[in-house]
Amino acid sequence: MKKIDLFLLTGIISVISINQLNAQDMNKATQAENRVSAKGFAVHSRDDHFHSHEFTRHAVGDNDVQIEILYSGICHSDIHYVLDEWGGTVYPVVPGHEIAGRVVKTGKNVSKFKVGDYAGVGCMVNACGKCSYCVAGKEQFCENRTVFTYNSTDHYHGNETTMGGYSNNMVVSENFTVRIPENADLTKVAPLLCAGITTWSPVRFSKVKAGDRAGVAGYGGLGHMAVQYLVALGADVTVFDITEDKRQDALRMGAKRYVNVNNPQELEGLNNTLDFIITTIPFDYDPIIYVRMLKMNGEMAVVGLPANSNINISTLPLGAANRKVYGSLIGGIKETQEMLDYSVANNIYPEVEVIKAEASEIDRAYKSVAAGEVKFRYVIDMKTLK
Ligand code: NDP
Ligand code: ZN
Repeated sequence: MKKIDLFLLTGIISVISINQLNAQDMNKATQAENRVSAKGFAVHSRDDHFHSHEFTRHAVGDNDVQIEILYSGICHSDIHYVLDEWGGTVYPVVPGHEIAGRVVKTGKNVSKFKVGDYAGVGCMVNACGKCSYCVAGKEQFCENRTVFTYNSTDHYHGNETTMGGYSNNMVVSENFTVRIPENADLTKVAPLLCAGITTWSPVRFSKVKAGDRAGVAGYGGLGHMAVQYLVALGADVTVFDITEDKRQDALRMGAKRYVNVNNPQELEGLNNTLDFIITTIPFDYDPIIYVRMLKMNGEMAVVGLPANSNINISTLPLGAANRKVYGSLIGGIKETQEMLDYSVANNIYPEVEVIKAEASEIDRAYKSVAAGEVKFRYVIDMKTLK
């Protein structure tokens, strides 16, 4: 009798597992069938130009939204990646992590968006949501590995490599999508998703307030956002860059001083004068000149990520006045939403040059950023993609 029961039980278990297997297989087949076709621009090696590139994205899951990308910003990080300056670039790479678009499809559990809403995606598309960092709203440091928007292994979707926003669409969890207010200036909003949050986050972390003396080193895509946030908060702002071309722009944006660091006499008298400094410089530089400018207990946020990231900071000037130097990486989703709402409400946007979605235009934009010619951010109009 027992033997028969066991036999029956084994039969039932194997039927259940065959059914489960079938369900899993069917699920996989449906997922494969429902993959979303995408097209955009990629480079295939570090010496390559941009080319049109067709690929697919994972299916729209129950918690996902599909976004039609309308505008995509060009960040200097994209250039570091394309040139493999940080190591580890997986080609072909479709860059782009400053994404503004419109929701065209929603998974069945999505509650934050409906079809037609404006939506933004920044530098990350997934994280565990459970570790201490995620719970603290710092998903960019997820202990179980953040999935970044491109060139990142998506361990929630079969370990495929993520592809970024120089493309016509995006499929992403609603938890990693931010709401773009309907009254936002859509041509300019995309760079807020990286340049905006990367500068907003340390400005808030260091609790900069009205009357504080602040410095912004590197006055490009990130730097000109930092200037605008600091001015809006009432800080007295000094800008540091290496050209004369942007002196008037800095003053126009509300900075009190502009220092061309190539003229050493302009640096005189600045030591021990600043409460807060943000450095956004993408190339090798000497951080110590900025450290020395900090007052006692002053804070310096390092956000620029030069190819050679081993910058040396002498401990002597740090210890001389309890100065604090810290690194900062983008910002969490909640604070990205706060930054976006604040920026739109206060009319704080990047100054942008909109280009067509053509490979040659992106090539041209990269050269211009590398040569320091852009004021201040290129944005690709993805609607012009052919
Ligand atoms: P941009 O190229 O737009 O701006 C860089 C600016 O720095 C330019 O104005 C450039 O001058 C200036 N500069 C170059 N060398 C010096 C120097 N020695 N001293 C002072 N200024 C200098 O870059 P982005 O703003 O897009 O990005 C800046 C950096 O931040 C990059 O390394 C990027 O990877 C990093 N980044 C970091 C993030 C993070 O989360 N930590 C997020 C996003 C970006 P000019 O153009 O006048 O020649
Ligand atoms: Zn960026």
